[in-house]
Amino acid sequence: MKTKRHRRRRKLKPIAYVLMGLIILLLVAIGFAFKTLLFSNPANNDISDSNATVVSPSSSMVPTTPTPQISIQPTPTYDTTTPSSITVIANKKHSIGQYAPSDLIAVSHPGSNGTQYMRQEAAEAMESLLSAADNDGVTLYTQSGYRSYDTQVSLWQSYADRDGAAAADTYSSRAGYSDHQTGLAMDIMGINTRMNASTRSDCPIEQCEGSDASLWLAQHAADYGFIQRFPVDKQDITGYVDEWWHYRYVGVELAQDIKESGLCMEEYFNVEGGDYAQSAQ
Ligand SMILES: [Zn+2]
Repeated sequence: MKTKRHRRRRKLKPIAYVLMGLIILLLVAIGFAFKTLLFSNPANNDISDSNATVVSPSSSMVPTTPTPQISIQPTPTYDTTTPSSITVIANKKHSIGQYAPSDLIAVSHPGSNGTQYMRQEAAEAMESLLSAADNDGVTLYTQSGYRSYDTQVSLWQSYADRDGAAAADTYSSRAGYSDHQTGLAMDIMGINTRMNASTRSDCPIEQCEGSDASLWLAQHAADYGFIQRFPVDKQDITGYVDEWWHYRYVGVELAQDIKESGLCMEEYFNVEGGDYAQSAQ
């Protein structure tokens, strides 16, 4: 009997294994399906479960996909309001008050109109510029550099007495609003040149914007950190008629970039310009 039972069991074994295997597979399949239904992301399937649909994608229950990190180079910010900033903007909308730079030095160059001063960094750059022009056979003279608040008061008044306040405002700044008061500006002349804007008809082109001095400056000044502060056709934005002779120090990198952009300082730094506010007059 014992042996018969053993034989019977042995005969049944393969079928039992097959059945058990099938049952296990079925259970695993059911379990897997059940688990999928219970724990899947409700936002990604069609389960009409009201609890599931109210879960917002931002809920902590829902695995959030990481926000892609976009690499953006930060836009450099420039200080255009602190009077001692190298990028300060003094115009008819922005006064620098009675600011006086503490690092003024004389710009030394033969033939200059008296002694002209600039802040040290700008003065050294200006001397390099003047030497480079000399080497190119173009003689330049420094005509007017730093002007104090008090100097500007009397200068503007003298123009206003001569031409009237409205006319004076088109080419001269009121005290506190002048680029010259920053210590970073210089009016530069050449041989036989005149301070007439190209928009005025009374200056022969070879003595003004077409002069050797003007052309050399337009081409090379940026390489020494200077930009033309009041370009042609920008009067509405800068507040001044074009001045081919007025150069402003901003540093080499910025000067080259501003020159390349074709923008005036106000446009480049997105700073308001134009005429005085009514309260300033
Ligand atoms: Zn000037």
